[in-house]
Amino acid sequence: MNRNGLTDPYRRQLNYLRVSITDRCNLRCVYCTPRALIPKLRHRDILRYEELLRIVRIGVFLGITKIRVTGGEPLVRKGAAHFLSELTAIEALADVSLTTNGVLLSRHLAELRDAGVRRINISLDTLKREKFAKITGTDRFETVWKGIRDSLEAGFSPVKINVVALRGINDDELVDLARLSIDLPVHVRFIEHMPIGQASASKTPLLAPQIRARIEQLGPLEPVENGMVDGPAERYRLPGAEGEIGLIRPLSHHFCDRCNRLRLTASGMLRPCLLSDDEADLRTPLRKGLLDEDLKAVFLQAVSQKPRQHALADRRKQNVDGQMCAIGG
Ligand code: SAM
Repeated sequence: MNRNGLTDPYRRQLNYLRVSITDRCNLRCVYCTPRALIPKLRHRDILRYEELLRIVRIGVFLGITKIRVTGGEPLVRKGAAHFLSELTAIEALADVSLTTNGVLLSRHLAELRDAGVRRINISLDTLKREKFAKITGTDRFETVWKGIRDSLEAGFSPVKINVVALRGINDDELVDLARLSIDLPVHVRFIEHMPIGQASASKTPLLAPQIRARIEQLGPLEPVENGMVDGPAERYRLPGAEGEIGLIRPLSHHFCDRCNRLRLTASGMLRPCLLSDDEADLRTPLRKGLLDEDLKAVFLQAVSQKPRQHALADRRKQNVDGQMCAIGG
């Protein structure tokens, strides 16, 4: 097996693995975690760190060069920073990053930096304390905001702020959120809300052209060229800004033809497409003691099943069954 093993039937080279280390989260965002109680994974069904590492190493052998650790909320799992340090120690990995809601970030920053993490994405959908509590079910705006400031001070770069654009919820704040990129060296990335699972949010998503029109009240968006590790965000800069604006458009301009991702859920399912429900089970063969060769075969099977487009793009579906908090965003 050589390092081009992860090329799918549509000739896309998959080199990016998102690894969810837990389905638990300390927030309950309206658009992500369903209000109705969905059972959580049993602890024994969540992959142990050494199991995750074995899978990652196999992925790296096959051609994965970039990993983002996510969840649930990755920092609620004990040992997350140590796990990240094991990832950054894997030489063939060019990029290891973390996505977090920021609630526990300040207290973990030093160990994350020591672990070799440099790039952090922090989710923040509002600058208003009461609205934050409404969206997330928790009064932690100040804590998250401190997490953002502390990350900048600690030299993480880039610090990206992920904003899910929610009609009727935070669409009155898109300009204020975009303005952060003028004053601070942050990348503010606006994400179209995807209809995933049972979580409630507006049924008519706010699409990128509408988001863009609002942001351009601050001035014209100048395009910034995408680099090797940028992923699907369309990058822009507002005049005189320290930071950047990103638009992530899974609905209005899906990037399936450039998609280079696989996802590993906390329960050990390899998911070739966030927005399609197919998964390949790695946990069962792993725990049965199968050889690396067998696990490689599961990777290859998942890769061979990656759809050309996600199920929403070709209108096969209106909604995806899994829960974002369980799949790993
Ligand atoms: N807990 C971490 C966090 O909050 O960043 C990581 C997991 S979270 C599922 C990852 C990202 O997915 C967050 O930026 C979140 O806003 C985004 N997200 C969750 N549900 C979404 C949805 N239905 N549509 C678009 N983005 C979503």
